[in-house]
Amino acid sequence: MAENWQCPFCGNNSTLTNQNVTVSGYNFDDNNKFDGPLRIVTRSIVCPNPDCREVAINSTFGRCVSEGGSFKLGKVFEEWLLRPSSLALVFPDYVPAPIRQDYEEACKIRNLSPKASATLSRRCLQGIIRDFKGIVKKRLVDEIDALRDEVDPDTWAAIDAVRQIGNIGAHMEKDINEIIDVEPPRPSS
Ligand SMILES: [Zn+2]
Repeated sequence: MAENWQCPFCGNNSTLTNQNVTVSGYNFDDNNKFDGPLRIVTRSIVCPNPDCREVAINSTFGRCVSEGGSFKLGKVFEEWLLRPSSLALVFPDYVPAPIRQDYEEACKIRNLSPKASATLSRRCLQGIIRDFKGIVKKRLVDEIDALRDEVDPDTWAAIDAVRQIGNIGAHMEKDINEIIDVEPPRPSS
C-alpha cells in the first residue's frame, strides 16, 4: 500500500507504507438491530518523520462484508478520532494563546456541535484580523470589508463564509464574545 498522509502532529506530508500503519478489526453480531453483522476497525499510524514519530489512532464502525474469504468494512456508521482527538493543526507559540485555544476547541467540537464550533471559529477569525492586521471595528462584517483588498478573492470569500456560518450561533453582529446557548448533542442510543 502507498497512501498520502498529513501528520496531525507535525504537519508533514508523507507516503504511508505497511511499515507505518497497523490495522486491526473484528466482527460482532448485530443483535438484530442493524440488519446484519458489524465490524469495528482500529488503525494506528506512526508518523514517518524521524523528528516526530507521533502515533495517530482512529476507529471506524460499520457493516461487515465478506470479500474473497476475508472480512472488510462496508457501509460506515460512525468514525472516531482517538489520537489526536481532533484534526487541529499545532500552531507555533507566536500565535496568541486565545486564538489557538479557540481554534483547537472549534476543531474538537466540530462533529458534536457544529453551531458552537462555527461560533468559536468566527471569534477566532476576528482575533486573527485584530491581532495580525490591526483592523478593529465595531462589527466583524466591517472588519472583513476592510480586509477585502489585502487578501486574494478566494481567501476573502472563505473568511466571509466563516462569518456568515458563525452568525448562526452568535448574536448577529453585536457582540462577538457572546455565545448563545447551544443544545448539547443527543446521547447516542
Ligand atoms: Zn508527524
